[in-house]
Amino acid sequence: MATESSNSNGKSVLDLEDKSGVAGGVEDVYGEDSATIDQLVTPWTVSVASGYSLLRDPHYNKGLAFTEQERDAHYLRGLLPPSISSQALQEKKLMHNLRQYDVPLQRYIAMMDLQERNERLFYKLLIDNVEELLPVVYTPTVGEACQKYGSIFRRPQGLFISLKEKGKILEVLKNWPEKSIQVIVVTDGERILGLGDLGCQGMGIPVGKLSLYTALGGVRPSACLPITIDVGTNNEKLLNDEFYIGLKQRRATGQEYAELLEEFMSAVKQNYGEKVLIQFEDFANHNAFELLSKYRTSHLVFNDDIQGTASVVLAGLVSALKLTGGALSDHTFLFLGAGEAGTGIAELIALEISKKTNIPVEETRKKIWLVDSKGLLVSSRKESLQHFKKPWAHEHEPVKTLLEAVKAIKPTVLIGTSGVGKTFTKDVIEAIASFNKKPVIFSLSNPTSQSECTAEEAYTWSEGRAIFASGSPFDPVEYNGKVYVPGQANNAYIFPGFGLGLIMSGTIRVHDDMLLAASEALAAQATDANYEKGLIYPPFTNIREISAQIAAKVAAKAYELGLASRLPRPDNLVKFAESCMYSPVYRYYR
Ligand code: NAD
Repeated sequence: MATESSNSNGKSVLDLEDKSGVAGGVEDVYGEDSATIDQLVTPWTVSVASGYSLLRDPHYNKGLAFTEQERDAHYLRGLLPPSISSQALQEKKLMHNLRQYDVPLQRYIAMMDLQERNERLFYKLLIDNVEELLPVVYTPTVGEACQKYGSIFRRPQGLFISLKEKGKILEVLKNWPEKSIQVIVVTDGERILGLGDLGCQGMGIPVGKLSLYTALGGVRPSACLPITIDVGTNNEKLLNDEFYIGLKQRRATGQEYAELLEEFMSAVKQNYGEKVLIQFEDFANHNAFELLSKYRTSHLVFNDDIQGTASVVLAGLVSALKLTGGALSDHTFLFLGAGEAGTGIAELIALEISKKTNIPVEETRKKIWLVDSKGLLVSSRKESLQHFKKPWAHEHEPVKTLLEAVKAIKPTVLIGTSGVGKTFTKDVIEAIASFNKKPVIFSLSNPTSQSECTAEEAYTWSEGRAIFASGSPFDPVEYNGKVYVPGQANNAYIFPGFGLGLIMSGTIRVHDDMLLAASEALAAQATDANYEKGLIYPPFTNIREISAQIAAKVAAKAYELGLASRLPRPDNLVKFAESCMYSPVYRYYR
């Protein structure tokens, strides 16, 4: 329990009593601080203005939930109407208000307003109503929010680092008010979801992802830093938009780009140390692969589009085996789209099969085929292919279209990662359903408008036999009197728990085996009741328990590989993960 009465400015300083159920004086588990007890550890560094400014500080504001005693102690009398609400009542009211909005973007704006007004209530809402609010704060609505960011932009969130800050990035990082950062999500805005180059407006993505780190993975909000690197945009519409908030120039590339990123990566390590997790998000694939391979040996980096997607999709495939029967190695995979997501997933599948069968990965790749915009990747195209596509250019005659590829390869699993909607046509789905009892069909492209097919199309055209999952959510579908619940291969299943596992074990590098561990942990969470409805992912309602399981498995792998620096290793990693999680319940200020 903390006690302090005034700071150097003579302002009242809050006395924080933890009501989260964690005993006072809890050991400082990270060697820095834990998710729930941050203010307990260093209370005298927390100086919160009282009265009027307290109501405007989102970290501490509780609105009508301030008690009589708090109103007296912190100069709030008269600044609030007399009624006192519980957090539960505030939550009920806000959910009621949110549901009045028909337009998803209005809900997004209302949630962002809440985050800026009352952070704990924002996270309480998000945690308690995760299935309903995930599509609001993340895909698909966040896509529209990024597209319209210029007009809905009210207050800056996160840190903007542009070419103007070259040579000064360390200083810019020091401008951020929080010093103990554990996770950075960074984008350069070049490939936002399936929407292309949105430049500086991509900031919605790191902000949204980090709110999920807190809500789903329990990483405390003050340890999360969203960053957008602005090197310009090639989006003509934005360049000609007088309200565009970013640099009005075409994207820097080559050495200029590499130097800015290098300065950024060094500054982050210098400012926050070796254990800060840097998650790359929505970079275009030519930069994404390069950044990941360049920094994976020197920094704790994770690319969610490549590695997170791969892990969540592999979890879905492992889980789907319960419905299809057999092993992963019995399947033949065909992808539409050979970019970050497609080749990332393909590589992790090949690795998993290799680990399970002891067959070299060069061999296990041969059952995985990819189609890009020019057709099937085949050996005769090898010379002209980007380096990340080359391992998938197998011996085969050229095939131009997806339908021809389906007929030629006869896949058991069809995965869409092209970013192009409506490409799993009736012909394609009927073809794969013609030689599979239970075809596995994942249409992963986001947002919903870009999905390769809808859930309804997959179930209807396969006569209810498809095992379907998508990137953006679809409602359950009734077909021939049976209700099918589509799975959502949402990266949000994996990255919050994955990140928590890295943080709580003090891991310094990401290893592919940790991704496999996360997949297996997630796949193990689907129950028989889920499978009965055709659902291969567990529902999001239990996401914090799922995240704790994933975190524990990732941390266990980190200890096994000698990459964890938090010693000694806790005996029960699941319990430890749970104890590290941030609680959004209000604290009582004395
Ligand atoms: P990317 O740009 O790296 O790759 C896209 C690939 O699709 C490229 O290989 C391109 O050649 C190919 N392509 C483009 N048009 C095509 C066409 N008409 N036919 C065949 N191939 C075509 O993008 P990415 O990061 O791989 O993302 C692709 C999509 O996957 C996006 O819509 C993204 O939102 C989605 N995604 C979903 C999840 C998820 O569901 N968990 C995760 C990551 C990405």
